[in-house]
Amino acid sequence: MIPASHPFRIHHFGLVSPWVDLTNSEMWDGYGKLTDFLDDPQWIADFLVHWHFHVPPPGPAELQELRRLRKLLRHLVQKTSAGSPLRANDVAALNNWLKVPVFRQLVENQNGLHLAVAAAQIGWPDALARIAASLAESLAHDPHNRLKICANPGCLWVFVDRTKGNVRRWCNDATCGNRDRVRRSRARN
Ligand SMILES: [Zn+2]
Repeated sequence: MIPASHPFRIHHFGLVSPWVDLTNSEMWDGYGKLTDFLDDPQWIADFLVHWHFHVPPPGPAELQELRRLRKLLRHLVQKTSAGSPLRANDVAALNNWLKVPVFRQLVENQNGLHLAVAAAQIGWPDALARIAASLAESLAHDPHNRLKICANPGCLWVFVDRTKGNVRRWCNDATCGNRDRVRRSRARN
C-alpha cells in the first residue's frame, strides 16, 4: 500500500493507466510551475509498485529512457487532444518501444485458464515496453480523440475523457475549469 501522504496519492496518480502517470510525471501546478517527479525517487518507487513493475530503481540510462518515452507519449496525446490523426511515423515511433520479445503461456488461476503474455527477459526494456503498450491499448480501445490534455496552459495534465458527449476540457472542473471561468469573467468586466 502506498501511503496517502505520498505525492503519488496526493496528486491522484495511479487511477487510469501507466502511460497517463508517466506523462503527468511532468506536472505543472496550474500556474505554469513545473515539478518533475522523475527527479523524485519516492514517486518512481510508488509508480513501480502501483503498476506492478518488478524492476530495480532506474539508473541514469533508464531515467533517460523514461524521459524519452514520456516525451513521445505527450507528443502523441497533443495530437489526439487536438483531434489530429496519428501518422504512420507516430505509430512507428510507438511501435519501436514495443519491440521486446515475449512468449505466450497457458496459465491457470481461480478464474480458470487464460493465455498470458510474458516478457522473455524481465527488466527495464520490458517495463518501458509495457508503459508504451498501455498507451497503445488506450488508443486501440478508446476513440483516440478522448485522450486529452487539460485546456489550462498552466496545467497540461493528461486525462482520458469518459464523459458521454466527449465534452471534458479540464483535468478538474473545480480547479482548472473554475480558473478559466474567473479569467473570462474578469476579461468581460
Ligand atoms: Zn488542469
